[in-house]
Parts: sequence; C-alpha cells; structure tokens
Amino acid sequence: MSKVIIIGAGGVANVVAKKCAQNDQVFTEVLIATRTVAKADKIVAEIKEHMPHSKAVFTTATVDADNVPELVGLINDFGPKMVINVALPYQDLTIMDACLETGVHYLDTANYEPKDVAKFEYSWQWAYQDRFKDKGLMALLGCGFDPGATQAFTAWHAKHHFQEIHYLDIVDCNNGNHGKAFATNFNPEINIREITANGRYWENGQWVETQPLEISQDIYYPKVATRKSFVLYHEELESLVKHFPTIKRARFWMTFGEAYIKHLNVLEGIGMTSIEPIDFRGMKVAPIEFLKAVLPAPESLAAGYSGQTCIGVQAKGIGKDGQPKVHFVYNVKDHADCYREVQAQGVSYTTGVPAMIGAMLMLQGEWMQPGVWNVEQLDPDPFFDAMNKWGLPISELADIELVKD
Ligand code: NDP
Repeated sequence: MSKVIIIGAGGVANVVAKKCAQNDQVFTEVLIATRTVAKADKIVAEIKEHMPHSKAVFTTATVDADNVPELVGLINDFGPKMVINVALPYQDLTIMDACLETGVHYLDTANYEPKDVAKFEYSWQWAYQDRFKDKGLMALLGCGFDPGATQAFTAWHAKHHFQEIHYLDIVDCNNGNHGKAFATNFNPEINIREITANGRYWENGQWVETQPLEISQDIYYPKVATRKSFVLYHEELESLVKHFPTIKRARFWMTFGEAYIKHLNVLEGIGMTSIEPIDFRGMKVAPIEFLKAVLPAPESLAAGYSGQTCIGVQAKGIGKDGQPKVHFVYNVKDHADCYREVQAQGVSYTTGVPAMIGAMLMLQGEWMQPGVWNVEQLDPDPFFDAMNKWGLPISELADIELVKD
C-alpha cells in the first residue's frame, strides 16, 4: 500500500525495518537511507534471511541527513508517502525541512536537540506547525516508547479512567543484563547527555530543577522487580503538562544500577562526557563523541541480553465516577524474546515498534491530520490495539500506588 523511507540504520531502525517487513500489507516498499550504508545492507540481509515470506521490497541508500538538498534529492527519487526518522535528534529539523519541500509526511522518536547544547525542548519543532498545516502534511513527534507510548498511556488514562489527572509518574525500568561493565542501551551520546543533565519535574505550574540523579525512590515494577529509580527530565513531560493542564505534578523516573552510576561518575569526573570540543592532534573532538566510539554499539548488546523492561504510567486524580483514583498502565518486554524475533535488545524494540505503529496509523488514516502533533493528542484506542497485536502487550493495574508522593 505505501512506500516509506527510514532514515538511520542503528538499533531502533533495525526494529522499525523488521516490523515493517512483518507488516507488509501496509509497508510495501521501504528504502533505508543512512550515513553508513553497510549497516542498512546488514538489516536488509537479515530481513531476507529471517523473514523470507515478507512481500515488502527493501532497498538501501547513503544519505547525509544534515544536508537538506541531499535529502530532497533522495525523497524525490524514491517518492515515498512518509519519512520515518530514526537517525539522531540532531537531524530532526533538516529532515522536516526536506519533507516540507517534497510534500511528504514525517515521524520521529526524539525531539530536536542542537549539537552544542544539551537542551531538550519541543519549541523548535512546534514552530513548524503552520508550515505543515498549510501544506496538508502531518509531522508526528516522539513516537517511540518514552516519548511515545507513555503519552498514549496518558491519553488512555484521560479517555477511559479519569475526569481529571492530577499527578502523573512515568516509570522506566530496564531490569536487563547485557554482561558488559558499562554500555548504553541506545545512542550513547544522546543517552549520557540526558542522564548527566540536571533533573526537572513539573509542580504547581512550574518546573522544579534538581541535581542529576538527586531524587530517588524504590519502585515496584509489576512482573519484574523492585528497583531504585531516579527522577530525570524527559521530553514528553513538556508536552503532557501542556496538553493536560489539570496535572499538578509530573515526574519521570528511570532505573540505574550501582555499577552504571559508578562508571558514569568517573567518566564525568574526568571530563569524558563533555560536549565541549577539545583540541586533539590538530582536530577538534568532543570527548563524548570519542567515548561513543569506544563504547559498545547499542545493537551489539542484543545477543545474550537477559531480563525484562517495564515501562508504564501511573496517574492519580479524580476517576470517571468522581472518586479519588490511582491507575497504572504498562508494558513488560523480555530482551531475549526481542532478540529471537528481530535480533534486537528490548530498548531498541520498545522504541521501534511504536514508531512502526505510528507510521501505520498515519498511512491508514486513523491518525492522519495536517499539522505537528504529539502522541497524546491522538486517539489512544487504535494505538493500544496495535501495541497488543505487534509485540508490546499492555497491562493495567487498578488501585495500587506504585510511586509514592
Ligand atoms: P544509533 O546511534 O544506534 O543509530 C543512529 C543512526 O543514525 C545510525 O545508523 C547513524 O549512522 C545514523 N545517522 C546519524 N547521523 C546521521 C546523518 N547525519 N545522516 C544520516 N544518518 C545518520 O541510535 P538508536 O537507533 O539507538 O536511536 C535512534 C533514535 O531513536 C535516536 O534519535 C534516539 O534518541 C531515539 N530513541 C528514542 C527512544 C524513545 O523511546 N522515544 C528510545 C531510544 C532511542 P552511522 O551508522 O553512520 O553512525
């Protein structure tokens, strides 16, 4: 039915491509375009090997997604209906520009970030609202798991369970073990920038800033474990408090093990996580980019990864019956199952599946509407059906407060 371009060929792109191959009624022709084309070729070779019955036709190309004319040429040559951007957040605006110029729809999984400042905010991409609307095009922002599914979970709470949401806690547990002393589960540069930045949460109409990893709590993750979890700033908080103004407090929690934090402290202490370029043998190198080159590639962690992820959203407020209510919506995913299915670890899987689903709901029309959208603004019902069908079944837990005040 539809031609799409996937930009990027990392851990998440691998999952998006393979889920498109499974969903070949919707995704009939797919071009994977990226900087290092050998990585795209590897994904296509694995699709041919592991999914020989898929009718979707895959091709690959090289592209520098920082370069708008190059992107425009690529899009015009292939003629897709939409672009799924799973390169890095640095490329969001150039890809959106190219989509506007060529008249194709757009989806990504992380908000734009400038390379030289660790700053997570939607302002740059929300500024494209009128341009996408005027051209009758849709841009769907942040359709991975968090951001992405967590916003659909919040929309589900609002649609099916609450008159008013007052307190929102997004919780993200990776209880997996990849056997490495230190590695990040998605792009190391983006991941470390997120964790070493100051924490921030929303309370009574304003942002409260914390030191990195200053606030923690032991949280029980159903079917998985009780794990120490830390308050971080996460980009979906910004759009959620905008679109659900009854929210009095919104926080994001993530688990980190002792060893992970110890390594991160040392790396930070010696300046290896800095984004400020230094002079090295006549070149300018940002230490964090060098660190990325040393650390294991996220996709290389997949074989032998054990344990589960559990990501969910707890809402507290006034239920549909007018009574105080607490409710939890979540998904648990097993790393080894992800590897068996698409040769990926759980963090790439839980991001790539919602991206494929968002693209499908756009292409099939359920979600398609001109303008720039965050996931919580769209109907969560078809998204929940698709999550249950495509490998990320959703569970709910009533009346138990997992995250305390
Ligand atoms: P990887 O680093 O594994 O992959 C990124 C890919 O983008 C690589 O193939 C890379 O090419 C390519 N790329 C980078 N720069 C360019 C460029 N200028 N032109 C063309 N291609 C480029 O990252 P992940 O797959 O782990 O993450 C992908 C995205 O998903 C990121 O934006 C990340 O923030 C987001 N994410 C979102 C999550 C969510 O839940 N919403 C969770 C996890 C990740 P090369 O191979 O040459 O380096």
